[in-house]
Amino acid sequence: MIKYCPTCNRSSEEARFIGEFCEFCVADKIKATLPKVVKVRRCRVCGSIRDSKGFTQYTDEAMADAIAQQMHAPNCKIKLKEFDEMRRIALLRIECELNEGTVRFNYEVDVRFTKEMCPSCYRKSAGYYEAIVQVRGSEHKVAGFLDSFSRFLEKGNAFVSKTAEMGNGIDMYVSDKKLVTGYFMLHKTIKPKVSYKLYGVKKGKKLYRHIYSVSL
Ligand SMILES: [Zn+2]
Ligand SMILES: [Zn+2]
Repeated sequence: MIKYCPTCNRSSEEARFIGEFCEFCVADKIKATLPKVVKVRRCRVCGSIRDSKGFTQYTDEAMADAIAQQMHAPNCKIKLKEFDEMRRIALLRIECELNEGTVRFNYEVDVRFTKEMCPSCYRKSAGYYEAIVQVRGSEHKVAGFLDSFSRFLEKGNAFVSKTAEMGNGIDMYVSDKKLVTGYFMLHKTIKPKVSYKLYGVKKGKKLYRHIYSVSL
């Protein structure tokens, strides 16, 4: 038996039906409940965006996740088809599971970005560091060390907030002391001397900076 949609009068020969209504009208009803504008938190320095897990490098998946947080559509899966950075419009593919069936549709939403800094950029800008690595040796050896060490830090999402050239080497102020320890565990031929310097107390816990003296 042919059904007719009570809203638009399309017949079941023209459109797929979900319950009493055609899929277009079902999609329209859902669209009417979705926001036209979403706010996405983005770091103004490095461009990372905040998805449900935290600040992360921009990917289509992270962007879709960040947008989904604002859509308040718990039965719907949201994918990013396209993001127009100039016009700040995201084209989404939305798939919603309803009792009567699944409905899929495209949806455009305006994206507003916040102008904040992610925690990592914030610490960097504040000159944050947990460890000082003092490297001494010939120019050639120091350069080789810096190259390998910097790449290791970058992979671990840490950074050097300050460097100071010394007569026979360089001092590096590094954001993450665990990563520095990790580096020396991997490169066992380098045996740094380690000392600790108290620099503060947080919630009753003494905070130490690690100082690594490396002779190459
Ligand atoms: Zn209809
Ligand atoms: Zn950042």
